[in-house]
Amino acid sequence: MAVLVTGGAGYIGSHMVLALHDRGEAVVVLDDLSTGLRDRLLPDVPFVLGDIGDDALLDRILTTHRIDAVIHFAARIVVPDSMTDPLGYYLNNTVKAHHLISACVRHGISRFIFSSTAAVYGETSGVALHETSEQKPISPYGTSKLMVEWMLRDTAAAHDFKALVLRYFNVAGADPQGRSGQSGRNATHLIKVAVETALGLRPHMSLFGTDYPTPDGTCIRDYIHVSDLVAAHLCGLDHLRHNPEAFSVYNCAYGRGASVLEVIDSVKRISGVDFTVQRAGRRPGDPASIIADGQALRRDLGWQPRHESLDEMVRHALMWERKHSNLQPFSASP
Ligand code: UDP
Repeated sequence: MAVLVTGGAGYIGSHMVLALHDRGEAVVVLDDLSTGLRDRLLPDVPFVLGDIGDDALLDRILTTHRIDAVIHFAARIVVPDSMTDPLGYYLNNTVKAHHLISACVRHGISRFIFSSTAAVYGETSGVALHETSEQKPISPYGTSKLMVEWMLRDTAAAHDFKALVLRYFNVAGADPQGRSGQSGRNATHLIKVAVETALGLRPHMSLFGTDYPTPDGTCIRDYIHVSDLVAAHLCGLDHLRHNPEAFSVYNCAYGRGASVLEVIDSVKRISGVDFTVQRAGRRPGDPASIIADGQALRRDLGWQPRHESLDEMVRHALMWERKHSNLQPFSASP
């Protein structure tokens, strides 16, 4: 039996494929390569180029391969982009997920893990977010994901179908063995931007907002190492295989925050480069602090994170960026 990973050529999906492969699971990847990279994938992993909304293709995959679970990553993920193209986000993230879930029900595939997001919570009051905290997304991206959570909940209630929803907080880092990482030159995420600046790929970076009601005035986020995140999916897969529970939702985070300044300090320290940081105004839509209550995942699924230090996330992100960009060692000046 194999696990179908949609979006398996993407940043998180490719780490998932490595983790499944490392523990001896058969994997099939479905990806349209709109943002994914074929060379992130191991050559011996079956790869299907195509669209998760293509019913005929899904029928072909699900009859050709003996699939026992689906892990669904394929989605558009840029929040500001979703503000200007809401219908594109609802089509890609919601409508196409409907096609994928329907195909699973049609073919009797009863285990489904869904990549959701902390964006389903919307505005946060600064308290640690629990899975039952109010869900009031403020972007089409968050709404597009929350609607899929609801489809899964209702499908699990009506059919022989079990779903696990994982809400990701700020994902960072790269495979410790250097086999995959975050690619692309238009990154907006803090750790990637800071790493690129340290390596001289950007002349400087901006620090958005220094007047937030936080100890150092900069925003606080709950960063999670991508390898720990995919390990949570492995725990989730075991849970779906051995547990009767039809539907559950978990936050994926360590439950502690780092400020933007702390992240920048870490990147400077580990890279050995004192790069230029320009203080800028607040970026619209940035809440001061987003921290999860991350206890449930450890308690219920037995998740044991192994890369919790911010420095480790930064070190692995730097390793990947340097390898990927063919740059000089970290200690070199940009
Ligand atoms: N940030 C920053 N400079 C950048 C990118 C991000 O100061 O070049 C800040 C951003 O304003 C936010 C935090 O870093 O306060 C995390 O942003 P990111 O885009 O990584 O993740 P988000 O929490 O928005 O999903």
